[in-house]
Amino acid sequence: MKILVINAGSSSLKYQLFDSKKFTSLAKNLIEVSKKSKTPTIDSAFKLAIKEIIGSKKISSLEEIKLIGHRIVHGGEKYSKPTAIDEKLIQEIKKLIPIAPLHNSINLEGILACKKYLPHAKNFAVFDTSFYNTMPEKAYLYAIPSELHKRYKIRKYGFHGISHKFVTTKTMEILRNKKAKIISCHLGNGVSITASIGGKAMDTTMGFTPLEGMIMGTRCGSIDPAITFYLSKTAKFSLEKIEEIYLKKSGLKAISEISSDMREIYKKALKKDKKALFAIEMFSYHLAKHIAEMSISLQGIDAIVFTAGIGENASYIREQTIKNLSYFGIYLDKNANRLSKEVISSKTSKSKVLVIKTNEELQIAKEISN
Ligand code: ADP
Repeated sequence: MKILVINAGSSSLKYQLFDSKKFTSLAKNLIEVSKKSKTPTIDSAFKLAIKEIIGSKKISSLEEIKLIGHRIVHGGEKYSKPTAIDEKLIQEIKKLIPIAPLHNSINLEGILACKKYLPHAKNFAVFDTSFYNTMPEKAYLYAIPSELHKRYKIRKYGFHGISHKFVTTKTMEILRNKKAKIISCHLGNGVSITASIGGKAMDTTMGFTPLEGMIMGTRCGSIDPAITFYLSKTAKFSLEKIEEIYLKKSGLKAISEISSDMREIYKKALKKDKKALFAIEMFSYHLAKHIAEMSISLQGIDAIVFTAGIGENASYIREQTIKNLSYFGIYLDKNANRLSKEVISSKTSKSKVLVIKTNEELQIAKEISN
């Protein structure tokens, strides 16, 4: 039997095919989805994925794919486990579109394509929010009238849960500590920092939507909500314009005035470009601040874990971030950090610091095969 995992996003369709016994990866790719490409829709990208899977010769027939796992960004308050996808669940995912407009509707397109082209397979939803169902009320409620939570479901949900679960599970194995107090930092285009004890989430930086918290590629993260009122009332910006600024024109892109891509920023930083150096400094400062903030829910830190594109590769971000935390007694082994080794903390450091490559697709495959 084979398991297919689908991660349908706004600009790409990621897929990975696994063998169900040893979870060996048999085929994978990231297919661009854009109006300018040959695959302008999720449906067309999925058709290409199927072609590639057949072309890989790793299966003799598509009927071998019995299970399909879908990464669904928002599961609301209800879903804490992988859930079989039926008509009722599709309606529930649709209901959550207004809260996660950029994500849930595209995730649904992935489900519909699978039902259309692989009708014999069973589809399961794995939610990015599920990992956070263990957060206490004091962490997930906002200090706004309770009516807004009851009626409009406004609360902190947390995101990137599949990735945080994968790296915390791996960290607990490496530390041989099933109760480890871990702060995991998922630093990709989106950025979130999560605190967990023994694999149970206690708090996280992202909130009602993936806009809250840390500075991201193009998203501003947490800012004073009064800025919105000011821009709307005094500067007369439309809400759509403000939304576009916060989601697409802020973050690293805004502070570096170079790019949202850390690799581009670093290239300029090597040439002593002031804005690039400042973007790295500001990102690292805010990251350290959020790590310190997250430590309150743990009352101690056994390990800090870096993952995703920036976390796995950008040793200069890890170095500056941990330098900001030296007051906590946390230090890096510079050489291990430069080489992006698994454990990068120094022998004298009070907390371990690790670099772990995330694998959301593998996490999904394992969860749905249980
Ligand atoms: P996504 O959130 O889309 O899954 P990724 O985990 O691929 O994103 O992370 C994307 C981010 O990682 C981008 O800012 C990119 O610049 C950064 N990144 C990827 N590779 C490197 C690298 N070698 N060095 C520094 N940053 C990197």
